[in-house]
Amino acid sequence: MTRTIEIDGSTGEGGGQIIRSSLALSLLTQTPVRIRKIRAGRKKPGLQAQHLIAVKGATTIGRATVEGANLNSTELYFQPHSVAIGNYEFDIGTAGSTSLVFQTVFPALLRADGETTLVIKGGTHNSMAPPFDFLDRCYLPLVRKLGGSMEIELDKYGFYPAGGGRVRAVIRPSKLRGFDLLERGPLQARQCTALVSNLPTSIGDREIKVVEQGLDWRAHECKVSKVDSRGPGNVVFTELINEYVSEIVTHFGKKGAPAEQVAEEVVTETKAYLNSTGACGEYLADQWMLPLAMAVEETWQPHAFTATMLSQHAETHLRIIETFLPIKSTVKTESDGRVLITLSRK
Ligand code: AMP
Repeated sequence: MTRTIEIDGSTGEGGGQIIRSSLALSLLTQTPVRIRKIRAGRKKPGLQAQHLIAVKGATTIGRATVEGANLNSTELYFQPHSVAIGNYEFDIGTAGSTSLVFQTVFPALLRADGETTLVIKGGTHNSMAPPFDFLDRCYLPLVRKLGGSMEIELDKYGFYPAGGGRVRAVIRPSKLRGFDLLERGPLQARQCTALVSNLPTSIGDREIKVVEQGLDWRAHECKVSKVDSRGPGNVVFTELINEYVSEIVTHFGKKGAPAEQVAEEVVTETKAYLNSTGACGEYLADQWMLPLAMAVEETWQPHAFTATMLSQHAETHLRIIETFLPIKSTVKTESDGRVLITLSRK
């Protein structure tokens, strides 16, 4: 039997991504994994509801044997037995992120032997997770450029805490080819959107005013979008559409945070992105390395990308990828501060 990979969940960043990436890579390589010390050192150690959903999704698709998949569990054993294609519906039940469930299962489905459709119900715009728009317009266009065949659609918005969102995806077997992503390319368009659900539209109006002024953007580049959802929700994001890669900077309205402050955070982060040169922003960098590693593994061709920074999160992700796949990485900080990450076959 294939040897079990042992992961220390307390290493590096120690967050939920260790669990999701380990599950994604275990499914992809059909290798059993044991994760110990899950989220040790966090305020609430062990598996939380949103991680359990990813475990559940991976278990269903992997026809997996699982031990320790309980709330607050600090140790998980996961042994996949297949990658079972089909039509699945995963109902997170809370506002847990649909994007994170999608990202846990889709890599293996790209290598399955047929098409899979997924309906995932839960949160579509959650803090600490890729919002649907980010998945749809930053991350997946790059995965498609690698050769990944998939579509994803938003049927219904879901905000924290009410949830009730619905995302549909189709994922097909794909042959991947790598490419280098060193430059963003020229900025082709920019826009700001304030999403408002079951809250006064004036919240969005105040937010786009701050963005218009703070970034010196034109009125036609900023809009308020009133959307339908089970509960209240407010999100502001800027979208920078460059020739080779897009970036979406998102902040979330929450009780007690004035709309102006939320928009100010978007302005500050957007300015920082515009003043930097890495092709991938912080979040895209930590997400991009897995599909790129798959392409490098398949083709044996090394490929690189640049990032505005390499977070501890991303470094941890790199180590996990190197544990499961025959991939090695080099990381070099360039004179302008951007980081060059190169992946190659061991
Ligand atoms: P974790 O904190 O370990 O649960 O992982 C969170 C994941 O969500 C990481 O892959 C981040 O890149 C991603 N993420 C968090 N916030 C954002 C954001 N505002 N935009 C895009 N991705 C995000």
